Amino acid sequence: MSPHEAERMLAFDAEHIWHPYAPMPAAVPAQPVVSAQGVRLTLADGTELIDGMSSWWAAVHGYRHPDLDAAVTGQLGKMAHVMFGGLTHPPAVRLAERLVALTPEPLTKVFFADSGSVAVEVAIKMALQYWRSQGRPERHRLLTVRGGYHGDTFGDMAVCDPVNGMHHLFADVLARHVFAPPPPLGYAAEPDQAYLDELARLAAAHAHELAGIIVEPIVQGAGGMRFYAPEYLRALREIADEHGLLLVLDEIATGFGRTGELWGCDHAEVAPDIMCLGKALTGGYMTMAVTMCTDRVASGITSGEAGVLMHGPTYMANPLAAAVASASIDLLLSRDWRDEVDTIEALLTSGLDGAAELPGVADVRVLGAIGVIEAREPVDVPAVQEIAMENGVWLRPFGKLIYTMPPYVCTDDEIGHIATAMWEIAESLHAPA
Ligand SMILES: *Cc1c(COP(=O)(O)O)cnc(C)c1O
Repeated sequence: MSPHEAERMLAFDAEHIWHPYAPMPAAVPAQPVVSAQGVRLTLADGTELIDGMSSWWAAVHGYRHPDLDAAVTGQLGKMAHVMFGGLTHPPAVRLAERLVALTPEPLTKVFFADSGSVAVEVAIKMALQYWRSQGRPERHRLLTVRGGYHGDTFGDMAVCDPVNGMHHLFADVLARHVFAPPPPLGYAAEPDQAYLDELARLAAAHAHELAGIIVEPIVQGAGGMRFYAPEYLRALREIADEHGLLLVLDEIATGFGRTGELWGCDHAEVAPDIMCLGKALTGGYMTMAVTMCTDRVASGITSGEAGVLMHGPTYMANPLAAAVASASIDLLLSRDWRDEVDTIEALLTSGLDGAAELPGVADVRVLGAIGVIEAREPVDVPAVQEIAMENGVWLRPFGKLIYTMPPYVCTDDEIGHIATAMWEIAESLHAPA
């Protein structure tokens, strides 16, 4: 692309196109990507950047993987899409077979959604409709923890962290749920009995009006990149069982090996009643997510007055997305993904070693293929991105967080580049005045 063409494109983009969580017109122009291959993005001027973000946790196999490209083009030769009302097709059935086999045993039913946010909406709807079907419509609230992120639609926003999720903006229209304090930080931290007691107390106090509990297992992603001990997840499963609540696990960020186990809930050896998957589901190729549930939830809903689950997106179970999702899962399982993630964990741990002592840094944490530097103050995003790009790396910090969740297929050298970029960013941060 000529410099002139690129400039024209960027000017139109800034003036007319919304970007995520951005003002209009744009305050800072976007970077123009013209292609991507392996773990690298190519910009309009030919610059290549290692994608430290995996396109927001999704592109675990990198870009233009031959198997994934073939899955899409192969399906394209049959049909791109067909409605799912009254019709079905091989890509949907093949993907559902894989998901039922791979996810915790009690999860047997699959709802195909078109994005992670919608999958969480469906999960909430399932939980509420389940209780309505039992003749208990007053059980319509959810217990969750602060620091969570579950998507951007209104139902989802109501269970996101009230501060990060800007609840005050929509205070009068968001559903009111029950919030416990954020789980104490640290995957390996000793469980805090006072916190466990508080969870139990809140659940008991509100059980009569609660449909379920919703959390991200082990890693809270966009709400703060916080890791917590498996003990808290086990406690939530026990609390749910004690009060008959449905445990909803949002595995949209944690699923498919990112945390070092295939599912976040595997760390605690618990199974949810409802589970959401997205992001890496299609290997970063297409938008698709799923909401899975148990026989009990499904039959509970179906035996109720409505007799059906009241949801059905136009692009439900899109065949292109379903085909590439199956191919992505096959590819993941065909490789030693656990070894890849463990290697990334070790390289990020050693690569970020010592950064916690820098004056502008509050905390450094690594779990699975996730590395986080938490600054003491909110960072200057364009300045931080410039340092990353000078190091040949694409990172997208938010708030106080500079983090990476690289493609699993990165070489040791590529992870080294990402860690070096994060170190240099950390060094550039100033201590609070
Ligand atoms: C990204 C994310 C979502 C929302 O998914 P979209 O596909 O962006 O709508 C929901 N929950 C979690 C945990 C996520 O990380």
